[in-house]
Amino acid sequence: MASAFGWFGPLIDLSRASSHIGDFVQLLVFVHRSFPVQCKSSKRDITRTDIEVGDDTTPYFLVSLWQKNMASMVAAGDVVLLQNFKIAKYGDAVEARTVQWSSLISLVHPHHSLLSKAVEELVTGCRVGATTKDKLRRVIKWVQQSRSTICNIKLQSNQTQQIEHLARNWTVLEEERPRDCFSLIEVSQLTTTCKAVVCASIGEIVPLHSSRTLGDTKNEKIFISKRVYRTKDGNLVDDLICTGCQLCGSPLDSKFEQSAVPLICWKSSTRLHSICSIYRPFMLYLWDESDYMPVLVKNRIAEILFGNIKAGKVYSAYKEETHSQNLGPRNECKDKDTRERTVINPRSSSEGLPSANTSEVDKDLQSEDKHLPDKFNFYRVWVILLKMLLKQGKNSPLKFEINVDPSLDIESGKFEMVSAKMPCFGTK
Ligand SMILES: [Zn+2]
Repeated sequence: MASAFGWFGPLIDLSRASSHIGDFVQLLVFVHRSFPVQCKSSKRDITRTDIEVGDDTTPYFLVSLWQKNMASMVAAGDVVLLQNFKIAKYGDAVEARTVQWSSLISLVHPHHSLLSKAVEELVTGCRVGATTKDKLRRVIKWVQQSRSTICNIKLQSNQTQQIEHLARNWTVLEEERPRDCFSLIEVSQLTTTCKAVVCASIGEIVPLHSSRTLGDTKNEKIFISKRVYRTKDGNLVDDLICTGCQLCGSPLDSKFEQSAVPLICWKSSTRLHSICSIYRPFMLYLWDESDYMPVLVKNRIAEILFGNIKAGKVYSAYKEETHSQNLGPRNECKDKDTRERTVINPRSSSEGLPSANTSEVDKDLQSEDKHLPDKFNFYRVWVILLKMLLKQGKNSPLKFEINVDPSLDIESGKFEMVSAKMPCFGTK
C-alpha cells in the first residue's frame, strides 16, 4: 500500500524529526486531535487543518495538512501513515507539513478498536511492509499503555460526531481483570504490572524490618513456623504486631522503621496515617510444585489471613494476659501450652479442643467462664490460627490474588498479596 508517487525518504520516529529538516519522510503516528486553522493570504482566506500527533518516541508533534481532502480522512484516535511529508522548522518548533505529492493512509480506525483489540490483530489487518508493521506495533502498544493520558485530551475537531466519546476530562478507572496463572513460576516471570491469581500453599512467615530479628537467621528466629510451637516465646507478638498505619500498613514503632515510612498516606483521603496496632509487614513464603515465592503481606491483608482478627485485639488480649500473670501466684503458669488450652472453653467450642486436667486449669476455667463471651481471648485464637496456617505441607492450597510490580524489589512489594480465598474446584 505505497503512495501513488512512491516513498521519498525514510520512515522515521518523531524523535528523529529535527535531524531531517527540509527532508521528505514517512511518519506513522497516532492522532490526538485535529483542528481547522484560518490562514490569511493576500488573495483569499484558506483553511488548513492541523493535527496533533504522537508516537512511541515523542508524545506530541504538530502536522499541517494543506489539502482539504486529506483533512476529511483523518479523525482523532486514528493511527495514520503520513507519506512524503516535509519536515520544517518555524522558530524553535519542528513540524511536518504536506506537499503536493503527500498522502495519508488511515491504518487503524476508529479509536475504539485500537483500545479493545490485541496488537497483533490490528497489525495483521494492515497491508504494509515489515518495517511499517514493526513501527505500527510500537505505536499501538504505546497508545494502549498510555491510554489514560491520551483519552483525556480535549478534542476540537470538526468531526465531533465520530469522536464525541473521547472528549472526557476525567480518567475512567477500569477494574483490571487479574490474570489466571497455573503456577508460581508463571507469576514470577510476569514482566508487566498486573494482578495475578494463583493457587499455592503457605510455607513460612518472615517478619520484615524487625530490629530484633535482623541477623537472627542462624537462630532461626526469623522463621515464625519454628517459633509458634515454642511454649516460651514471648516475643512472637512483638515481632508480628507493632504500632503503625492501619490503612497503608507502614510500621512506625522504631527509629529504624520511622526513617523508611512515607510522610503521606496514599490509602487515606486526608493523606494522614491512621495510627494503631497493626500487623507488621511480613513476607509470606508460598510454594507449589514449580517454585517458591516470597509475597509481601501488609496489615489489612494479614487480617484476612488471621480470620479477620485485628492486630489491636490480639495485642490487647496478649497484654492483658501477661499483666494478669504478673499480678499473683494464682495466675502464674509457666507452661504456655497448658494455658492455651484452657482459654477456649471446650464446652462452648464445637472444635472440642482437649482440656488439661490440673486443678490450676479448673480454676482458670471457672474464672474465664464469668467473662465469656466478651472476654474472648483473641491472642490465643490468633496463635492457633498461626499454627494452623504454618502446618507446612498439611494444608490444601489457597487461591491468592497477587499484585505484581516488576519495577520494585521483593521486600518493597514486587509481589504483594491482595486477597486469599479457599479455592473452589469444579467437579467436571
Ligand atoms: Zn498510612
